Amino acid sequence: MGQSAKTNRAEQVIARCRKLAMFSEDTGTLKRTFLSAPMVDVHQEIKSWLEPLGMQVWIDAAGNFRALYPAAESSGPRLLIGSHLDTVPDAGAFDGILGVVLGVTLLEELRGRRLAFGIEVVGFSEEEGVRFGRPFIGSRALVGMLDDELLNVVDGQGISVRDAIRNFGLDCEQISEAKLSPDTVAYIEFHIEQGPVLEALGKPLAAVEAIAGQSRLQIVFDGRANHAGTTPMNLRHDAIAGAAEWVLAVEKFAQKANNLVATVGKIDAKPGATNVIAGQASMTLDVRHGSDDARSRAVQELIACAHEIAQRRGLSVRKNVLLEQRAVAMDRFLAGEIERAIANAGCEPHRMVSGAGHDAMILAEKIPAGMIFLRTPGGISHDPAESVAVEDVEKAIECGMRLLDQFASSPEFCKVASESSNTVSAEQRDRA
Ligand SMILES: [Zn+2]
Repeated sequence: MGQSAKTNRAEQVIARCRKLAMFSEDTGTLKRTFLSAPMVDVHQEIKSWLEPLGMQVWIDAAGNFRALYPAAESSGPRLLIGSHLDTVPDAGAFDGILGVVLGVTLLEELRGRRLAFGIEVVGFSEEEGVRFGRPFIGSRALVGMLDDELLNVVDGQGISVRDAIRNFGLDCEQISEAKLSPDTVAYIEFHIEQGPVLEALGKPLAAVEAIAGQSRLQIVFDGRANHAGTTPMNLRHDAIAGAAEWVLAVEKFAQKANNLVATVGKIDAKPGATNVIAGQASMTLDVRHGSDDARSRAVQELIACAHEIAQRRGLSVRKNVLLEQRAVAMDRFLAGEIERAIANAGCEPHRMVSGAGHDAMILAEKIPAGMIFLRTPGGISHDPAESVAVEDVEKAIECGMRLLDQFASSPEFCKVASESSNTVSAEQRDRA
């Protein structure tokens, strides 16, 4: 294929993402939440792209868009490729959607050629957690984790997930049929990086090796509120000053630690007056790392540091754990194959940990999952300025085609994929 044809198909991917961005709940900006009206238009549009390929297309009971490109033989295994179709408010055009559009493009590029495995394209109905405050509703249905508890959660209008499904014309009784077909051997997701790492390295693509675990805590320093004019400096128990010292210690700690990010994103002080020494300072702490051990060690050290600061300043410290989410490893075999495909596409491979959560971590509960990140200009996402370079999309398509060929020419693909699935679950059992 000539360079101009490669550029054309990459430009088409971008144009399709921008077209889907026009289907929005809000005028002038993009917002598309779980089973909202514009989701119907998105489904219709993607279906119109797939029709020339003669594919079977369906919307499952969780509102996920599904389409199957059959294997050469009816008994062949199935590879799942996709991402999510919902967005945050005032969103960009590529987060999630790009992964679905790229899946469609890879099928088109096969030009009718059947492989030893079938390919199912999936566009998840919900990943961002905007409407119900609970993320991954779509992918949870595929792994059997969309249960009654989640179906009963209500949105701001008092509409439950169950009602939203019914209002969309789908049948909750059939949720179990949304589960992965048992012959599905692997999941692959293309996604924008949503960060500045690949841009800083000058690399278009990366293989994701893990999705970082997260700890979120509330940390409260208690001191003594008192008069700002009459209390001498050496007789104060200033909660804000203690908190400030700790915030800088958190930053310094994370800067020295390997691949760790730690953030104090919110701080509230009481009583909150110009002429009163703060009696209380309450903060959030968000810590992420690809290794659960490294993350929990970091959290312990940061709490010990808070106690040390508090003791020295005559304050006390309390903590409240808000979230503990374990890291999810991507499948090792798939990550290796993705690296090889990136190299075969003429790019220098790179491996990285995803700091954000993705559908791939839900799929990884049941089948081997792999992710490919695309460089994100300016590291900007969840914003209308979110973009992706034509050359990088070209590389992603090339990488995807190489990956399909690698799988097709690997007699072990299905076998290795299912074996490594067992390895992953064994590892996960050991860690639990
Ligand atoms: Zn996303």
